[in-house]
Amino acid sequence: MNDREGSPCEQVENEPSDNESSHGVCLCESWEASDAGGEGLMVGPCFACTRRKELTSEHIVPHALGGRLKGLLYCKECNDRFGKEIDAEISKQFGKIATLLNIKRERGGETRPFDVREISTGTELVFDGKGFTRKGVIVNLSSKDGKKLDAADITVRSKGELKKTCAEIRKRYEVSGEMKEFQEHHPGPTDAVHETEINSRLLRRASAKIAYSFLCTKVSRDIVLSSAFDGIRAYIKDDEGPDLSCANYVHTRFMTDHVRPLHKVHVALNRDDKIVVGYVSLFGMYRFTVVLSDDFVSDLEWADLDYTFDPVRLQEVFMLGNERLRGSHITRADILNPKQSKELVEAEISRGHEVVATYVDGYEFLHGEVE
Ligand SMILES: [Zn+2]
Repeated sequence: MNDREGSPCEQVENEPSDNESSHGVCLCESWEASDAGGEGLMVGPCFACTRRKELTSEHIVPHALGGRLKGLLYCKECNDRFGKEIDAEISKQFGKIATLLNIKRERGGETRPFDVREISTGTELVFDGKGFTRKGVIVNLSSKDGKKLDAADITVRSKGELKKTCAEIRKRYEVSGEMKEFQEHHPGPTDAVHETEINSRLLRRASAKIAYSFLCTKVSRDIVLSSAFDGIRAYIKDDEGPDLSCANYVHTRFMTDHVRPLHKVHVALNRDDKIVVGYVSLFGMYRFTVVLSDDFVSDLEWADLDYTFDPVRLQEVFMLGNERLRGSHITRADILNPKQSKELVEAEISRGHEVVATYVDGYEFLHGEVE
């Protein structure tokens, strides 16, 4: 919550009373109270469907990515829908980094395993942040008469699973010989690869939702619920209209310090073009720019809004220098069609991986394939 001076929020509070009706009441205080309380109930317009409903607590940066900042922004129906659709996808693609960094879930949950492929054998494995196991149980049985077992080849993920699987087979068949156990060895990280999408429509919408949710916590409700933001709502909620977000490795370089795998959300106003632009950077590696509005007219003094979070230390970070950064010259074309080559994107992602690698031993396999 740095940078409050001159923020739209502050400005609204300072507006003379005859302007209050047009600018509404600043949400920040009630929002912060809900953040502190966690489960507080609040009825108000949902920032997605705009209906007046009970609002449920929502992570601004998804919990699966180590996000901790919350707001009461959306109704249960919208929240559930986001969870199943766009949040699920961003967690699936980018949550791998949270697993690698061993970022624990809130309330003590474990990290989420993800699939990798062993390069030398092509075997599908599961990586849980500590080690590799086979993705599934493989059972090959042969029996000539259907009663007596002639041969069995069973691959399982744990001792317990082996015991259970063997017991089931003994129950079904006569087993004459002894079963022999082998421990399968996987060479580990240097021999595994995973694929991560970085710019699908679902991910673009998910990044747009992060920027929009952050905006909702920072400026007055009447401003965010005005028609200037109808386009972004329809895009996030109903998958309507043209893309309003894009993976962007040209205009987002200020979003990473190349030292820590930071999450960063930044919102700026390009007054000349009436554009409110959102910047989202996840682990310093997956970076997007978002057109939150291209029809925003306001006399408000608007300082850039910024939130930076270290998901490893679980701490908000205050980055000097960025306070003065303003996105006033970025255009709609810069946001949605950045001039970036595949080589540049790969180089930037690779730099991001190098940062994560300083936190994790045996990290090479995450030089994953970029689409
Ligand atoms: Zn809703």
